[in-house]
Amino acid sequence: MIKHMEKQNIPILMYHSISSHASPKFRSCTVSPEVFEKHLSYLDRHHYTSMTVTQFVRAMVQGQAKLPPRSVILTFDDGYEDFYTRALPALQRHGLVATLYVATMFIGGTSRWLQREGESMRPMLTWDQLAKISTSGIECGAHSHTHPPLDMLAPSVARSEIVHSKELLEERLSQHVLSFAYPFGYYTPRVRQIVQESGYTSACAIKLTTNSLLDDPYALARLAIKPDTDVHDLATALSTDCGPLVASPVKRTRAHVRQCIRNVYGKLWGNRSTINKKASKEVRSSYAN
Ligand SMILES: [Zn+2]
Repeated sequence: MIKHMEKQNIPILMYHSISSHASPKFRSCTVSPEVFEKHLSYLDRHHYTSMTVTQFVRAMVQGQAKLPPRSVILTFDDGYEDFYTRALPALQRHGLVATLYVATMFIGGTSRWLQREGESMRPMLTWDQLAKISTSGIECGAHSHTHPPLDMLAPSVARSEIVHSKELLEERLSQHVLSFAYPFGYYTPRVRQIVQESGYTSACAIKLTTNSLLDDPYALARLAIKPDTDVHDLATALSTDCGPLVASPVKRTRAHVRQCIRNVYGKLWGNRSTINKKASKEVRSSYAN
């Protein structure tokens, strides 16, 4: 039984903005509506069954019997307005569900954390749009409050980011918020522990591979979908866990080493960092609003 379960490769696709417009530095985080439509048509034609991250994690607990034969999970990070105007209508046309991860501070505003990418004015979802999304079968998860790299923050500041975004979403949407996505995919064992202690049942990282039912639900792997991800690349990743969307073992080891170095750096310098002061101030001031 366990041997068979280990063979199951469950893909979690990671999208950001569904748009044809982007600055050069942000382009890798966008997929045009036309390419997105091709991806969804492929999933539809090949009888993939979509589920939310929380539905997947429940299946992990209950075992393989609860998992449809061709399962796929679509996720969307950050909470751009084009999720409502572009992604949601396309998902609904194809009868697909998804999990949307929202950085709560920017709801109703613009993507101010993307200044360096020249994208600080990208419109974000409003609370009204989020309320409609959350009643349409789409899961709303949290993606921190101010979108900082959590592995570089003091644990108390990271906890505020993780807890406050959950509480805000739950209060405004009147729903439990059970899934979290680490901003930039960065986390440490301590950050993972805080997410678990805060009442989430899952968390998504990046990792560029697929998941088995035995993987850690607080470190789920995702495949980053790029603007030039064609249907062939998508099909290869879904059916074989190989191809350009999947990181080689060497690349995965390098990424793991990089994260370990960041963890040491974060522990040594985290408490003194300007990121901490900025994030802490922003979380505190938003409590006052
Ligand atoms: Zn993000």
